[in-house]
Amino acid sequence: MAKIKKLLVANRGEIALRVMRSAKEMGIRTVAVFSEADRNAMHVRFADEAYCIGPPPSSESYLRMGKIIEVAKRSGAHAIHPGYGFLSENEDFAELVEKEGLIFIGPSADSMRLMGSKLAAKEAVAKFDVPLVPGTSTPITDIAEAKAIAKKIGYPVLIKASAGGGGKGMRVVENENDFENQMERAISEATAAFGDGSVFIEKYVLKPRHIEFQIFGDKHGNVVHLFERECSIQRRHQKVVEEAPSAVLTPELRQKMGEAAVNAAKAANYYNAGTIEFIYDEDGSFYFLEMNTRLQVEHPVTELITGLDLVKLQIRIAEGEELPFRQQDLAIHGHAIELRVCAEDPANSFLPDIGTLQTYTRPQGHGVRVDDGYEEGMKIPVHYDPLLAKLVVHAQTRSLAMDKMIRAIEDYHISGVETTLGFGKFVMQHPAFRAGNFNTRFIENYFKPEMLKEPPAGSEESLAAALAFVLHHQQKPPTAARATSTAPISKWRKNRV
Ligand code: ADP
Ligand code: ADP
Ligand code: MG
Repeated sequence: MAKIKKLLVANRGEIALRVMRSAKEMGIRTVAVFSEADRNAMHVRFADEAYCIGPPPSSESYLRMGKIIEVAKRSGAHAIHPGYGFLSENEDFAELVEKEGLIFIGPSADSMRLMGSKLAAKEAVAKFDVPLVPGTSTPITDIAEAKAIAKKIGYPVLIKASAGGGGKGMRVVENENDFENQMERAISEATAAFGDGSVFIEKYVLKPRHIEFQIFGDKHGNVVHLFERECSIQRRHQKVVEEAPSAVLTPELRQKMGEAAVNAAKAANYYNAGTIEFIYDEDGSFYFLEMNTRLQVEHPVTELITGLDLVKLQIRIAEGEELPFRQQDLAIHGHAIELRVCAEDPANSFLPDIGTLQTYTRPQGHGVRVDDGYEEGMKIPVHYDPLLAKLVVHAQTRSLAMDKMIRAIEDYHISGVETTLGFGKFVMQHPAFRAGNFNTRFIENYFKPEMLKEPPAGSEESLAAALAFVLHHQQKPPTAARATSTAPISKWRKNRV
């Protein structure tokens, strides 16, 4: 297959830049597409060429398949990288790209079609002995039948949209009385959001950890895994903090899950980058959740522990090259953690926040990587994902990585919008996270918005600080203060002791 000399990136923000940087290092010329809201965006300036593809709403710009392909052909691009989100998991797009004689940087349309349906995916991987969450394996519409199945599985159960994604289309049902109501809602939500009302039922695992495996396949039948990422710190069933490796996997379990992940990929005749998501239960059992047929938001943690550039690898595989390594050549080096720095307000249910980046200063230093698409003074558009940046750190051990993340968060200065930075620090300092003893209910179990505020007067920290102040001044009172300040100190004592 031909070498790619020019690449169009059908995306925006941090991921568009991230892809273009690797392309540039490979001597590949880059083409950006942008909506009217992104005229001054960094990815537009970074690219060798850039084309406006429509108004701000993504349905009128970043999701316009025909327009994007037209730009690719007009600019002489040989290939299209879809990033994540937008058209990245759209098999019709992948098919159209190839039909027009261009290379799609990703898996085949057939693999995407199979894995795009959670139900079809489960059916396919089950044949390869990959364990599934107990539940139904076909879409279910009959309420009475569904109820009987839920009873057999045992409450609580989860009703899921087969076409779901991005944490949407899921409903937990605690008991039989709520079943009918929740099922009706799930079907109508799935129909509205994904144009497909198929739902199925899974056992709701009570203390799950989300552990996923990065896999890579080439067009010659070779598949390897690049170890796991733990993504259990989630809000709205979506990840906020990710790390590699997971704090709970033993080498034996890693090997077992890695083999299951490779088998799942083989079940889809998969090539290029993909992710097999598992739920890991307290008792050490694990179940296949779904496959994401694209580059994942959190891929940098895998890059840091393996030393590989996954985008370069994606491009080489798309060109037809064989994987340049075998499973036994791969090893984990150190520990990496990523925080999704989103424009959202942790104090207000993590709802997206909009505004202008009045201050924006990135952290720097050894082992700190920032993938972002914004600069000081830029407006956060309302039309897209609230992800501002990914703050990623790498260190020799998990403990050192957490310490580095805290330092990097403290060195990251953003004003004008609320962000998840303070929340990230809360996670890094929390004893349960530090001990590696947590699950997807971390936020529900431990987080209260008021914990992000400065310690209020009377808290242990401020008491200690006040006491230190008092002791210091009692020992060596500054001359100016000595004459006047005995009263305030004794007043403080009266109030406090
Ligand atoms: P990851 O597993 O890579 O973390 P996310 O679930 O966070 O994936 O999704 C990555 C991006 O894709 C986000 O921008 C998210 O909003 C978007 N996304 C994922 N699935 C869908 C979907 N079915 N519909 C719309 N957007 C989606
Ligand atoms: P999406 O396509 O939205 O990413 P997933 O099936 O990957 O959907 O599930 C997203 C998240 O929802 C998981 O990371 C996990 O936190 C939670 N989840 C999914 N299935 C279950 C389950 N059976 N039990 C408990 N939690 C689940
Ligand atoms: Mg998922």
